[in-house]
Amino acid sequence: MKKVKKATKEEIEEIKKRFIERYSGAVTELHYKNLYELLVAVALSAQCTDKRVNLITPEFFKRFPSPKELAAAPLEEIKELIRTCSFFNNKAKNLKAMAKKVMQDYNGEIPLDEKELVKLPGVGQKTAHVIMIEYTGANLMAVDTHVFRVSHRLGLSQDETAIKTEETLTKIFKDNLQTLHQAMVLFGRYICTAKNPKCDQCFLTEFCKSKENFKPR
Ligand code: SF4
Repeated sequence: MKKVKKATKEEIEEIKKRFIERYSGAVTELHYKNLYELLVAVALSAQCTDKRVNLITPEFFKRFPSPKELAAAPLEEIKELIRTCSFFNNKAKNLKAMAKKVMQDYNGEIPLDEKELVKLPGVGQKTAHVIMIEYTGANLMAVDTHVFRVSHRLGLSQDETAIKTEETLTKIFKDNLQTLHQAMVLFGRYICTAKNPKCDQCFLTEFCKSKENFKPR
């Protein structure tokens, strides 16, 4: 991966300030009413747009309103409901296994704890962090494709993987991580887009180190 110049301490502080000012109070664009729905929506959103997930979930939650119905559902029925989502085969298997485990080990309640969440099938550190950020406002970072690209273009991280980038961003920003996470997702989705970034709308142009489309290894 091409190395770009690192942002200075002063630059990091100013970028942080502008992100927080611009995106304070921002929340996920995924639609959900409870922790179970948030977990399903976040799991479906991997490699899939929030827009598409929001089209799928109303019918999904009508058919499977809680882990109980999802655990008992035939796999084929779950697949059918989410088939317009990328990797739907795997996602369906994981969702069913997740619901079964929640029924067996957690009395039907999704555990609101990072260490317990990652024990659920299909739930990695990134998903667990997104759930904790969204549901509890926890001071955590999660790095998706948008956060990765934005942090590299701005010289905030030179790391090759998402997990390393998460560590770096946590270290350099320290606090307000939940807002900074939402900020970088939205900034990457609507302004600093992968193709043809809208640099004329950018409020961080003087800190931009590269317009390359950085992708995690
Ligand atoms: S100037 Fe363009 S490429 Fe650089 S951070 Fe802003 S939107 Fe992204």
